[in-house]
Amino acid sequence: VPAAILSALSAAARGGVLFKGGAALETLAEVQVFAFDKTGTLTTGQAGVTGLVALDGDEAGFLARLAGLEAQSEHPVAAAIRRETAARGIVALPVTEVRSHPSEGITGRDEAGAIWAGNARMLDRMGATLPPGLAQMADSAETMVALGRGDRVLGAVTVADEPRPTAAAALAALRGGGAGVLMMTGDRAPVAARIGAGLGLAPAEISAGLLPADKVALVDQAARRGKVAFVGDGVNDAAALARADIGVAMGVAGSEVALQAADVALMAEDLRKLAAARALARRTARVIRQNLTLALGAMVALVGSSLFLDLPLPLAVLGHEGGTVLVVLNGLRLLTDPIRSRT
Ligand code: ADP
Ligand code: MG
Repeated sequence: VPAAILSALSAAARGGVLFKGGAALETLAEVQVFAFDKTGTLTTGQAGVTGLVALDGDEAGFLARLAGLEAQSEHPVAAAIRRETAARGIVALPVTEVRSHPSEGITGRDEAGAIWAGNARMLDRMGATLPPGLAQMADSAETMVALGRGDRVLGAVTVADEPRPTAAAALAALRGGGAGVLMMTGDRAPVAARIGAGLGLAPAEISAGLLPADKVALVDQAARRGKVAFVGDGVNDAAALARADIGVAMGVAGSEVALQAADVALMAEDLRKLAAARALARRTARVIRQNLTLALGAMVALVGSSLFLDLPLPLAVLGHEGGTVLVVLNGLRLLTDPIRSRT
């Protein structure tokens, strides 16, 4: 059993899938439902800013303030805003006392007082209403981030992220392997529907507008169908990653907290490795069953023949040690198991 598990862990690691232990590998083989976070997991997280409306002053000043706030956020939306700012050669304004509000946005303080950025939930928290000039942005199938001070909205940007090139194939491979798939996101329903449709997800498989606690509740609900894996990248996902039977973090793109809470880290951006890792975990479970059958069978045969057939000692030794060598070799076969994704 250890030979099989260690071989599989090593093969997986060479393929860019790091398991935190053998137990995670054994659990992955039994997973029935894979729940995915959207932003940064099913999508690239390399989103671009697609629209900008500054209601108060010029675009450069607006972006400098927004980027100053988002400079300290790990969220993919924040990264998109920072990239846009850098591309325009704008220097972010200093913002202090920054606090992130999961699935809502971010707050902080600049030279003129408290400021915030985020979605409709953040607007509600601040008692702000959306100015008519931003209504069209808010209704689009892209993620809107508004910047505000108190109950005044200073403007907004829209950010569009796209599905990872490998995401649709990965979901199909998991489905093909008999598992169910779900998408859970804190983003708005129209954005979730657009990305979900691009990935071939059914409306029933998509849940949007979720707070981190809602993701945990949905993981619990999915757990009634069998073992659940949650795949996520963000700070907002730590609770769901910890609650699921197995948590999978996007290793390179993911946040530190997600990596801490997870049992498995995907070091490659290729989501198909997850389906490959599940197949490897199932092959490992099969090899373990073979080995147990082989070892127990050898024992029964040896004990039986030594009791009733007067087994010669050299033959008994050969049978005993040979059986051990055989099961170890059978386990070691997994060392060469390719976890490479098929294209
Ligand atoms: P997902 O579950 O898809 O990863 P999140 O729960 O991380 O989405 O975020 C949901 C929404 O919260 C985002 O679409 C965005 O509107 C808002 N949000 C989260 N973090 C930030 C941030 N740092 N700045 C602005 N908006 C944010
Ligand atoms: Mg995310």
